[in-house]
Amino acid sequence: MRALRIISGTLTLDPKAADPVPAPGDVLVRPVVAGISAADRHIAAGRVASGAIMGSEFVGVVDSSSPKLAGARVVASPVITCGVCDLCKGGLPNHCRARRVMGTHARDGCFADRIAVPLLNMLEVPRAIDDESAVFAWPLSCVAHIRNLLPATRKSSFITILGDGVIGLLAAQVLASTNDTVRLLGKHPDKFSLCEKWGVKHRHVDEPGRRQDQDVVIDCTGAPGGLALAMQMARPRATILTLSTPTTAPGASGGSGVDLSPAVVNELTIQGVRGGRLAEGLELLAQRRVDVLSLITARYPLTQARDAIARAASGLKVLLTFA
Ligand SMILES: [Zn+2]
Repeated sequence: MRALRIISGTLTLDPKAADPVPAPGDVLVRPVVAGISAADRHIAAGRVASGAIMGSEFVGVVDSSSPKLAGARVVASPVITCGVCDLCKGGLPNHCRARRVMGTHARDGCFADRIAVPLLNMLEVPRAIDDESAVFAWPLSCVAHIRNLLPATRKSSFITILGDGVIGLLAAQVLASTNDTVRLLGKHPDKFSLCEKWGVKHRHVDEPGRRQDQDVVIDCTGAPGGLALAMQMARPRATILTLSTPTTAPGASGGSGVDLSPAVVNELTIQGVRGGRLAEGLELLAQRRVDVLSLITARYPLTQARDAIARAASGLKVLLTFA
């Protein structure tokens, strides 16, 4: 089968990759459409080392040989958990002490013709949700998690979303539906036109002052400066949610050091955000209150994965197909 991974430092579509061998509890899935994530771009660029088959966002069809769900259209959480550690049993499976993450960390991902996926990680996609929308189930799970982690806010609380990538744009849509003062700060006119289409407030990140007047700041930039900027915008005792884990390549000079003194002086709460619950992402799709299809900028066959990943640097969603 074909599989995309980094081999000797080079992004390679291996035409003769070994077929996955399902472990107990796994089923074989044939990806139909997959999405390129920020993690995929970091791996392709060498900023994150991984020898696994890449890819974490997909919709696929369970292989006909499967004893369960044969032929079903499914999505999956990429976080593989043990189910028995204290954190799994304590209701925090995304923090499982033995977790592996499809496509990024010790587990092969979905940029391949076949993939072994734990049955427990999968959900069947309702018929009303098309394939290209279903690819957003996992990113939307993350957005639902952001919503869950928000502190109690009034409808008038000032919420700023930093970053106009896929997660920032999805979060802006979801949060603006319940709070009139949500605004997105970004850099790209094409993203602003999407905000206008959705009725979401937006400004160029350089326009607003740094007045420390926001009740909640959500850093979706993925950039080293995101947290520092968030701290300049947050009022005393505010909450910052951050999804950014800026990394530098091994041996690269410089780092992502952030001066945390504003967090102490202003008594800020800084909350990291990672992952989510797949069922909540699928529910957001089923409710049809989020426009995901407008975020798709290009579609490429797996054979053109290199071009697809280069295109994905624009910050919107690029899809891979497996025909
Ligand atoms: Zn565990």
